[in-house]
Amino acid sequence: MNQPEHQPPHPPRIHTGRAGALVITGSLLIGAVLVMGGLGWIGRGGALSPTGPSPTTAETPRDNGGRLPPARPAWVSPLQPSCSIQDLAQRQHLQALLAALRTAPKRVRVDPTNFGERFRRDAFGQAVDPTPRLVVLHETVYGLRSAIHTFRTPHPNDEDQVSYHALIGEDGQVIQLLDPSKRAFGAGNSAFNGQWVVTNPKVGGSINNFALHVSLETPLDGENNNPGHSGYSSAQYDSLAALLADWMGRYPIEPENITTHQAVDLGGERSDPRSFNWQALQERLQNLGLLC
Ligand SMILES: [Zn+2]
Repeated sequence: MNQPEHQPPHPPRIHTGRAGALVITGSLLIGAVLVMGGLGWIGRGGALSPTGPSPTTAETPRDNGGRLPPARPAWVSPLQPSCSIQDLAQRQHLQALLAALRTAPKRVRVDPTNFGERFRRDAFGQAVDPTPRLVVLHETVYGLRSAIHTFRTPHPNDEDQVSYHALIGEDGQVIQLLDPSKRAFGAGNSAFNGQWVVTNPKVGGSINNFALHVSLETPLDGENNNPGHSGYSSAQYDSLAALLADWMGRYPIEPENITTHQAVDLGGERSDPRSFNWQALQERLQNLGLLC
């Protein structure tokens, strides 16, 4: 079954022109953003075009009837290779978090309308590899409870359907929403280094079929349309590193395939996760030996 791709309920910068309307709070606001995001996405239709400079690599997809994504700059990972383990105490702490993720996962059930199975063939009948090999980082903009409420709510309309594989609260709690084998609806029209999977030719392709999505709870001062906020907590970076270690241990995910929603979004309207500290992630992944 072909299925449109989906937009998550954030970040607010997608709604720049309508930010003044975002004055209600809580799940009502999430609902409003969802609807607005969906409408914005549909409205773009086939008119999507990339923004930014020309590609800097050999990534030069041709127009072959919408089977390849538009040309975009290649992702340049801020993570640097390193085999130096500099903080043994942190390493032990992160390993304990990883063990807890595996032995005592905290799970929340997502409504079945908000996710799907990974496709093994695209809309053109071509075989596609459904193995997760890309991680996309997001932020919730609003609180964890609002996000969970949204994912647990049935959404019969395609444009409202949304999910991630995991959420990480400000206090570091990891909420596992979907098994990595499932296809989360975390990004709409999107591509990564010239790769996407088209499941509905009318709406272009998406990275969802080969991606894992994780979203960080935004601090209170980020519940707005601003370009940045005070950033994520140390506990969030710890938990993110542990979660990534789990996923990288289970799937062929290279560090350079950890990216952002902003980087994969073809609409040029997503900016999350804002104020992300790559150095904080670098240190933790390095101490776990994952950048060696
Ligand atoms: Zn996002």
